[in-house]
Amino acid sequence: MKKISIFGATGSIGQSTIDLIRRVPDAYDVVALSGGHNVAQLARDAIELQADIAITAHDARLEELRSALAGSGVEAASGAAALVEAASRPADWIMSAIVGAAGLAPGLKALEQGTTLALANKESLVCAGALLMQTAADHGARILPVDSEHSAVFQALVGERIEEVERIIITASGGAFRDWPLERLKTASLAEASSHPNWDMGQRITIDSASMFNKALEVIETREFFGVAPEQIEVLVHPQSLVHALVGFRDGALMSHLGAPDMRHAIGYALHWPDRNALPVARLDLAAIGQLEFRAPDLQRYPALRLAQEVMRRGGLSGAVFNGAKERALDHFIAGRIGFLDMASLTEEGLATLEAQPGLIDASMTLENVTRVDDLARRAVDQVVTQRTG
Ligand code: NAD
Ligand code: MG
Repeated sequence: MKKISIFGATGSIGQSTIDLIRRVPDAYDVVALSGGHNVAQLARDAIELQADIAITAHDARLEELRSALAGSGVEAASGAAALVEAASRPADWIMSAIVGAAGLAPGLKALEQGTTLALANKESLVCAGALLMQTAADHGARILPVDSEHSAVFQALVGERIEEVERIIITASGGAFRDWPLERLKTASLAEASSHPNWDMGQRITIDSASMFNKALEVIETREFFGVAPEQIEVLVHPQSLVHALVGFRDGALMSHLGAPDMRHAIGYALHWPDRNALPVARLDLAAIGQLEFRAPDLQRYPALRLAQEVMRRGGLSGAVFNGAKERALDHFIAGRIGFLDMASLTEEGLATLEAQPGLIDASMTLENVTRVDDLARRAVDQVVTQRTG
C-alpha cells in the first residue's frame, strides 16, 4: 500500500486527487488530509479514507472539526504549525495543493523526509524555487509537476536531455476575457472573472487565468523547475486548452502533449509515475475537433507576463515579492476594493517599492527571509490601496 498525504484536500486539485484515490481505496493508506474552512468536507473525506489526521488551516475551526471527527479515530489538528508537523509524517507520496504561499512551509517539510512531492502549488516554486529544488536534492526527494503545462513538458522530456532543449512553449487559454476589448477589462466584475471557459478550478487561479497572472507564475515555474533560461520560455495563446505545452529541441523538432482539460490527467501521471495507469479522463477525438487555434499573447493586454520577465531578470527574492503582492492584490479585488486592472498596477508598485529597499531582494533564500518579504509585499500593496481609496 502506498502511504499518501494530501495538503489542500478540500480544493479543486485535492478533490480530483481524492477522486482517483477513491476508485482504488485498497491501494492507498492515507496519512494526512488538510483543508481550510470547509471542515465538513474535510471530515467526511478523512473518515471515508480512514486518514490518520485531518488538519484545518484555521484554529477557529478546530472544535468543529473535532466534533465532526468524534468517534472516528481520525486525529484533528489546526494551524500552520500542525500542517508542517503533518508534512513530516512519513508518506511515499505527498500532494501539495494548498493555494498560495501558505503551501511553501509544508512542501519544504515534506521534501525533508526525502519523499515524492506532487507539486500543484506553483506559488512555492515562484517564491522559493532554488530553496525547494535544493531541499529536494539535499534529501533525495523528488518533485513531480502537477500543473498541466509542466506535467506536459515533463512528459515530453522523458528520455531527452535538457541540454538539447531550445525552447519550452506553454499554452494559455486566455481566460475569461480573451475576447474582450481592452477598455472593457477595467470594469470586469468578480463574477465575470471567476468563470473559466475550459477549466473548472478554484476561484483564485480562475481569476489569475483571466489576468494572465497564472501564466506569469507558470513562466517562472518553468524556469525554476526545468532550469532553462528566461529567453527559452514562450507563452502561446491556445483557446481550446487541448495542447498543454510543447518542447522544441535543437534540431527543430517540437514534441507536444495533448489531452482533455481535466487535471486528473496531470495528477494521475504524478500519482503513478514512472508508470502510466488507466485514467478516467475523456479521450480526444481530433477529427471531431477539426482545428487547433494558436496566437501570440498581447503583452499590453497582459502586463503580468511582462512582470514575470522582470522578476526572472531580477532573481533573488523578487519572485516572493511578486507572488505576495499579487496574492494581496487579488484579495483586494475579491473584496471589491479595487478594479480588475488594478491588480497588475498594484503588483508592479509593490515590486518597485521592495526592490528599492537596499539588500532586501538579495537576502539569502531561506524560509524565514521568503516569509518576511512575502509579508512586506502584502503590506506595501495594502498601503497603496489605502492611499488610493482614501
Ligand atoms: P482551491 O482554492 O480550490 O483549494 C485550495 C486548498 O488550499 C483548499 O483545500 C483550501 O482549504 C486550502 N487553503 C487555502 N488557503 C490556505 C492556507 N492559508 N493555509 C492552508 N490551506 C489553505 O485551489 P485549487 O484550484 O485546487 O489550487 C490549488 C493549487 O494548485 C494552487 O497552487 C493552484 O495554482 C494549483 N493549480 C490548480 C489547478 C486547478 O485546476 N485547480 C491547476 C494547476 C495548478
Ligand atoms: Mg497550469
